[in-house]
Amino acid sequence: MPRRAWSWWLALSVPVALCYPWLPSGSLIAGIGFEGVGAIACLVMMVAIRRLRPPNPRMWWLLAAGNAASVVGDLVYDYLLNVAHVDAYPSVADIFYLLSYPVTVGGLGLLVRGRTRGRDRVGLVDAAIISTALALPAWTFVIRPISAMDHQGLGDQLVSLAYPIFDVLLVVMTARLVMTPGARRLPFATLMLIVAQVTRLVSDVAFSATSITGADFPWLDGGWILTYLLTTAAVLHPSAARIGEPGPHRDAGVLSTPRLTLLAAASLLAPVVLAVQGLRDRREIDWLAVAAGSTVLFLLVVARMKLLLDRVQGQARQLDQLAHLDGLTGVPNRRSWDEALSRELARARRSGEPVVAGLLDLDFFKRFNDAYGHQAGDLLLKEAAATWRALLRDPDVLARYGGEEFGVVIAGLPAEEALTIVSRLRPATPRGQTFSAGLAEWDGTEPADELVRRADEALYQAKAAGRDRVLLAKNVTLAG
Ligand code: GH3
Ligand code: MG
Ligand code: MG
Repeated sequence: MPRRAWSWWLALSVPVALCYPWLPSGSLIAGIGFEGVGAIACLVMMVAIRRLRPPNPRMWWLLAAGNAASVVGDLVYDYLLNVAHVDAYPSVADIFYLLSYPVTVGGLGLLVRGRTRGRDRVGLVDAAIISTALALPAWTFVIRPISAMDHQGLGDQLVSLAYPIFDVLLVVMTARLVMTPGARRLPFATLMLIVAQVTRLVSDVAFSATSITGADFPWLDGGWILTYLLTTAAVLHPSAARIGEPGPHRDAGVLSTPRLTLLAAASLLAPVVLAVQGLRDRREIDWLAVAAGSTVLFLLVVARMKLLLDRVQGQARQLDQLAHLDGLTGVPNRRSWDEALSRELARARRSGEPVVAGLLDLDFFKRFNDAYGHQAGDLLLKEAAATWRALLRDPDVLARYGGEEFGVVIAGLPAEEALTIVSRLRPATPRGQTFSAGLAEWDGTEPADELVRRADEALYQAKAAGRDRVLLAKNVTLAG
C-alpha cells in the first residue's frame, strides 16, 4: 500500500462526511451515505491490517471491531425503522452500539499498555484527574437528568444510562492515552486515533443533549463518520508501525506548562459545575456529587504533588551526590573534604579530641602514565582509592584532593596512631606503586587551611626525603 494512502483516504472520504448533514435526512441516499461510508471504512481498515501487518495487531482488530459493531448497529437501526417499520427503543441496534464501546476501550487499553514502560503512576494519576473532572459534569448534566426522565421501562432506562457511562469509560481511556509519557511526541497515527474518539464523544454528548433538551444537531452523524474515517486513516499512516512503542522515558513525571494547564482546568470543573448549578437554580445543586467529585480531585492532585515531590527530591539527592563525589574514583571530592575537615575541627573544638589531616600523593605518577598510558593511570587512581578506603575505619575521610593527590581526615585518634593507619595504606597501593604522605595534627586553634598547609609541607619533605614514606609535621608551639 502506498505511503500516502492515508491522505488519499481522508481526501476522498472526509468531504462525504462533511456533505452528509446536507443530505435529506432519513432518505435512502443519506442512509447509503452514512452506513455505506462506515462499512467501507471498516472494510478498508481490515484489509489494511491484513496487508500492512502493523505491530500490536490485536489492538487494531479491536478498534476495527468496535467501529464495525457501530456500523452494524446503524444498519440494524435503519432496517428496523425503514424496512420493518419498527420504531422501538431500546432495540437490537443498541446491543451493537453498546458493544462498540468496551471493544474500542479494550483496543485503546492495549495501545496504552504498549506506550507505558513498566508502571506509569504519573500518567495514571493525571488520567484519573481528567476523568474524575469530566465525570462530574457528565453525571450532573447528562447521566442524572437522563435517569430522572420518564422511561418506558427498566430496559429503556438502563440502555439510556449505559451510553453516557460508556462515554465516560471512553474518556478515561482516551485521557490515559493522552497522558502516557512523551505525549507531545505521539505518533501521528495515535493522534488520529485520539481525535477519532474525541469526534465520537462530541457527537455522543450532542446526542444526549438532543434527548434531554430536544435540541437538534444536524451534524451529529458527521462526528461518528469521522470516527470511522480517522481510525482507518490511522492504520494507513506510516507511523502506525511505531504506534505501540513506549514513550520517551525521561519525560515521565515532568509537569510541562500545557500539562499543568490541562490539569488545572480539569480540577476547576468541580467549582464550575457548582457555580453553573447555583446560577441556574440553587435547589438544583447536586451537593453530594460535587462534594464527592471535589474530594476525589483534591486527593488526586495531592497524590500528583507527592509524585512530583518524590521526583524532585530524588533529583536533588542525585545532584547532591554528583556535587560531592569524585567522578573518577567515586570517593568524596575536594569540596566534601573541605566540608568534612571543617566539620571535624568544629566537633574537636567542643570535644577536645585530636584531629589529623593528611595529604597523600602517588610517587612518580607521571612516569606511570607515560609508561602505561593515561587510562591505566586512571585505573590505578580508582583501584588505589578503593583499596585505601577499605583499609580505613568508617568515620575516617578519604577524598580525592585533586589530580593524584588524596586527602584524609582521621579524628579521635592520637597523631601516632593516625600515622600507623596511613602507613598501613602505603604497601597496599596497587600495581606495585607507592605514595608519599604528610600528616599534621590540629593544634586546637589554627584554621583549616593552616592545618592543610602544614600537612602539605610534610608531604613535600617526604618527597624530598626520597618518597614512599609518611611524615608527621611537628606541632609548632607558639611562643608566649
Ligand atoms: P611525584 O612523585 O613528585 O609526585 O611525581 P609525579 O609524577 O607523581 O608528580 P607530577 O605532579 O609531576 O605529576 C602528576 C601527574 O599526575 C601529572 C598528571 O598527568 C597526572 N594526573 C593528574 N590527574 C590525573 C588523572 O586524573 N588521571 C591520570 N591518568 N593522570 C593524572
Ligand atoms: Mg602531585
Ligand atoms: Mg605525584
